Amino acid sequence: AVPLVAAISTSVSAQKGLLIRNRTAFENARKITLFAFDKTGTLTKGNFGVSLYETLHEDFKKKQVLRLAGALEAKSEHPLAIGIMEKIKDEKIEIPDAKNFNAITGKGIEAEVENKNVKVVSPGYLKEQKIDIPEKAFDNQQDTVVFVLVDNMLAGFIAMADEIRPESYDAVKMLKKSGMKVFMMTGDNEKVAKSVSDELGLDGYFAGILPDEKLEKIKEFQQQGEFVAMTGDGINDAPALATANVGIAVGSGTDVAAETADIVLVNSNPRDIASLVKFGKATYQKMI
Ligand code: ADP
Ligand code: MG
Repeated sequence: AVPLVAAISTSVSAQKGLLIRNRTAFENARKITLFAFDKTGTLTKGNFGVSLYETLHEDFKKKQVLRLAGALEAKSEHPLAIGIMEKIKDEKIEIPDAKNFNAITGKGIEAEVENKNVKVVSPGYLKEQKIDIPEKAFDNQQDTVVFVLVDNMLAGFIAMADEIRPESYDAVKMLKKSGMKVFMMTGDNEKVAKSVSDELGLDGYFAGILPDEKLEKIKEFQQQGEFVAMTGDGINDAPALATANVGIAVGSGTDVAAETADIVLVNSNPRDIASLVKFGKATYQKMI
């Protein structure tokens, strides 16, 4: 049988927007010393709008850059893909077929379009391939930038803006006030990460990291003696959610994240984390 206190806590927690998937989650919540958050879709809304797109090669017109990217993004469910497809609809661009679609984990996507290899990738991918990164793509520090490669030639870039969730400010403030450290981990570029981190007043961030690296960071924190909560929404967050002492998934995120987590934020509201922390402490006190 479920102890009465725990049963009551579970039903109250549902009203607070928390779905508890694991009975030890509450007990563990009071031990948390460090919160790690994913950025996109967790601290931010994950609703990207295209703010700018440009060609970087004389063989490609600006529209062609968007058209080729669209051929790939039509097959992706990433928040960036949804933003790009909206722009394509607005501009009434017809997109060609893409074959052999592939995700490049944490870095982008690729496919064959009109007999050419097309990729839409992160700045980190360019760095890895030793392709020079054009600084003008980063004129707006707050933008997430993806690059379009055609047969490994840099064709253009698309800059996209997301917004911080208004509730994130309160969540971070409350956690810090309770004496917890707050970090962010993101696959997005350094400049965006810094701007979100500065804006929210975080203790630190890790940018341009892959899903396995998110997991490694969690382990490092644990080795330093921290009791770690991780909050994320994507497939890419699942390994980190599983390794954290408390895994928290954002309700609007992927099923994979929700299935891996101990707790789901039903209303996708980071502020409900504050209830979790307060509530975990209260439940424990009632039990002893
Ligand atoms: P996050 O950790 O911020 O949720 P992801 O791991 O999902 O980020 O993605 C990391 C980076 O990989 C993105 O910022 C982007 O540069 C690139 N990327 C991933 N999927 C796509 C896609 N469908 N289209 C364009 N770029 C993508
Ligand atoms: Mg995410």
